[in-house]
Amino acid sequence: MTEVEFTKSFTQQEPIPDDGITLVNEIMRTGRLHRYNLEPDEESQASMLETEFSKWQDVDYCVACTSGGYAIQLALRVSGVNLGDKVLANAYTLAPVPGAIHNVGAKPVFVEIDNSYHIDLDDLENKSKSSGAKFLLLSHMRGHIADMDQINLICKRNSITLIEDCAHTMGSKWRGIRSGNFGRVAAFSTQTYKHMNSGEGGFLTTNDAELAAKAVVSSGSYMLYGRHGAIPTEEIFRKVRQFSPNYSGRMDQIRAGLLRAQLPRLDKNISRWNCLYSCLFRRLACMDNVTIPTRNKNEFYVGSSIQFRLETLKTNLIADFMKACLNRGVELKWFGDSEPKAFTSRYDSWSYIENLPILPNTLAVLAKTFDMRIPLTFTLEDCEIIADVLQSEIDKFLN
Ligand SMILES: *Cc1c(COP(=O)(O)O)cnc(C)c1O
Repeated sequence: MTEVEFTKSFTQQEPIPDDGITLVNEIMRTGRLHRYNLEPDEESQASMLETEFSKWQDVDYCVACTSGGYAIQLALRVSGVNLGDKVLANAYTLAPVPGAIHNVGAKPVFVEIDNSYHIDLDDLENKSKSSGAKFLLLSHMRGHIADMDQINLICKRNSITLIEDCAHTMGSKWRGIRSGNFGRVAAFSTQTYKHMNSGEGGFLTTNDAELAAKAVVSSGSYMLYGRHGAIPTEEIFRKVRQFSPNYSGRMDQIRAGLLRAQLPRLDKNISRWNCLYSCLFRRLACMDNVTIPTRNKNEFYVGSSIQFRLETLKTNLIADFMKACLNRGVELKWFGDSEPKAFTSRYDSWSYIENLPILPNTLAVLAKTFDMRIPLTFTLEDCEIIADVLQSEIDKFLN
């Protein structure tokens, strides 16, 4: 019997919509690619995108920038994080997150995750008290949203400013409120593997006028901040503009054009992701030896990736298991590896950080966790094939 194989790429994104290609071609013909290089009375693509994204996100202010990591860094700076400050952060995250904390001269205080990939609320409360940190950079890693009501209570009790990393939760909600609208400021990524694709790119969003003005000027607006969309009044800018260093990180017209064409399709794409995710979730949930945490009913997630655990698979067999899946076309990532590989690294591999803690639950959960991308180029049939492959390899390795 020949074994089922999967042949599609796990890193293949959908093409840019035709109207986006047309728009970008028009922009290229003008030669004016910089967001401030405009005809009199012309509004830039970046500015229109900021207005459109702020409306979609249901937030007052939005700054388009060069990357998600840049947006996080800017968010930390305008929130008042200073040299040597401590910033609480869930330990299950991606390398740009501690990188942004390091970049502003602050020190991450890593917090445990629970068995459902959320920040551990008890450890957050404890570390808030023991570290005295006044900031929490919460990464909604792989789209898993913690109980935001509890998070806000903990932050309030401990006078902590919440900054949200929404790289995986663009379009997600908690109790109907969009992820990103819980903290003082949020960062989004539009890098290729996220929910909208401009190659590189990101947004900072906030409802705080002064913080927004600081972010616009620091993103590199010079004194041309009035050419941005979704911004506070001139009066606010006058207050902050000479106290906000220019950390040059603007979005250009081409990326903005690419994103303007994608934003109207985002909600539909979210439904498409969730169809694929439900299929994989349903299949994985009924396999023996597979642990896949159920999602909280208050959480509206975007299923652009899936995580599951093989609790009984021995560590020395993990590499073989992943290889066997890969040989049949199914690409898994393992967050438990002590050796950082490709995009994936465990918190204790960020050796530039002093006094890396030992977080037993995080290590135990990640040791057994596999992670799989779900690009929109996959169909429901593809998901069934992937599930068939996983089922048969899991059976081989664990029965
Ligand atoms: C991708 C990502 C970022 C950074 O986004 P870039 O646009 O690549 O800089 C930050 N946090 C998480 C969790 C991410 O996955």
